[in-house]
Amino acid sequence: MRKNADYLTGINFETAPGVEVSNDKALFANRVGGSFGEPPMEDTGRHGAVAAQLRRVIQEPGMRKPELNRITAALRNLTPMQRRVVAAELALLDKQPATTLIIEGRFATTAACPHCQAKDAIRYGHANGLQRYRCRECGKTFSALTGTPLCGLHNRGKWLGQAEALRDGLTLHKVADALHIHVSTAHRWRHRFLALPMAIQPQALTGIAEADETMFLLSFKGKRSGLDRKARKRGGKASKRGLSHEQVPVLVARDRAGVTMDCVLKAMDMTTLSAALKPFLTKDVVLCTDGSLALAAAARHIGVEHHAVNLSAGIRVDGAWHVQNVNAYHSRLKAWVCKFRGVATCYLANYLGWFRALDREHGNDPKPAQWLTMALGGTA
Ligand SMILES: [Zn+2]
Repeated sequence: MRKNADYLTGINFETAPGVEVSNDKALFANRVGGSFGEPPMEDTGRHGAVAAQLRRVIQEPGMRKPELNRITAALRNLTPMQRRVVAAELALLDKQPATTLIIEGRFATTAACPHCQAKDAIRYGHANGLQRYRCRECGKTFSALTGTPLCGLHNRGKWLGQAEALRDGLTLHKVADALHIHVSTAHRWRHRFLALPMAIQPQALTGIAEADETMFLLSFKGKRSGLDRKARKRGGKASKRGLSHEQVPVLVARDRAGVTMDCVLKAMDMTTLSAALKPFLTKDVVLCTDGSLALAAAARHIGVEHHAVNLSAGIRVDGAWHVQNVNAYHSRLKAWVCKFRGVATCYLANYLGWFRALDREHGNDPKPAQWLTMALGGTA
C-alpha cells in the first residue's frame, strides 16, 4: 500500500500499488466511493466543523440545550456523504478509550510541534488512533504523544491501569499480574511513566525549611555482570556503617508547609550541597539542619539564616528549630521503598519523584488520570 495525501482536503488515505491517480479530485472520488479502506474520519471543511462541535458536546456533559439544538439543526443540513463522515467521527469517539482523551487533552488549546516548538499546525489525518498534525514551520507530522516518554509504548488501553499501579505503589510482579503484561514490560512502563514526574520539583521552600541527608544502598539491581563485588540478596545491608562507597546520599529539604525537594547527591561537600539547595531557597528562608558541617557551610554560602540542632548533645528540639519533619519524611520514604526490596541506584531519582508525587497530595493520592497526565508532561 502506498500512502497518498490529499492536500486540498487534508485527508490521508492509501491506494493499492499500481493504482494511478491523476489528481486530487480522483483521489477524493476513490475515497468517497469507499474503494480503499475505512471511511475517512478527518475533520474537513463544514462537516469537519460539525464533527468538532459534536466532539465538544460529548466531552462536556453539562452543555446547554440551545447549543445542542443548534448542532442537531446543523446535522439536518448535511449531505449523505457528510453524514457518513460525522457518523464515522462519532464511532471513533465512542471507541476512544479514556486514555486517548487524556493524551489528546495535551493539545486541547494548541498543538505545539515537538520538533520545533512552533504552535502553527494543521490537522493531518489520524495515526494510531490519535489525531495527527502537520507543522507549518518545519513540515513534520506529530501527534499529542510524539516526544513524550510514553511514545512508542504499546497497549494504550492498559495505561490507566499502569497509572493506577503507580498510585498504589504496586511491585512489578503485581503490576504484571494485574495488567497481564510481562514483568519486563511493567519495568519499562514504570520508568517511562516516572521519567517526567521525577523532574517535578517545587518552585521554592519558604519559612522554616529543614534539610538533612539520608543514605540508600548503592545497588546494581537487575545488572547481571560486571559487578566488582558479590551481589547482595534482596536489598541487603552495607558491610560498613555510615557513609561509604556502598551508600548513595540523598538530600531532602522540606518546609513546614510540607513543600519538599530532594535529590541524589554525587558527594556530600559544601559545593554539592549548596548547588543542590540554592535553586529552592528564597532569601528569607530559615534553614534548619542537624548540625552537619557541610550543610552549615552550604547555608553560609547560599546566604540564608541557619540554625543547627545539636543532636550529638541529645538536643532534638530547640524551640522552633528541629529536623523532625524532614526525618519523618525520610522514614516514610524508606518504609515505602522497602517494599521494592532494594532499588537500582540508576533509578533512585525516579523512586524519589514517585514518592514526592504521592506526598504532595498529603495522603490524597493522585488519581490514575492525574498520573497519566504527569507522565505526559502535564501537571496533575
Ligand atoms: Zn515544527
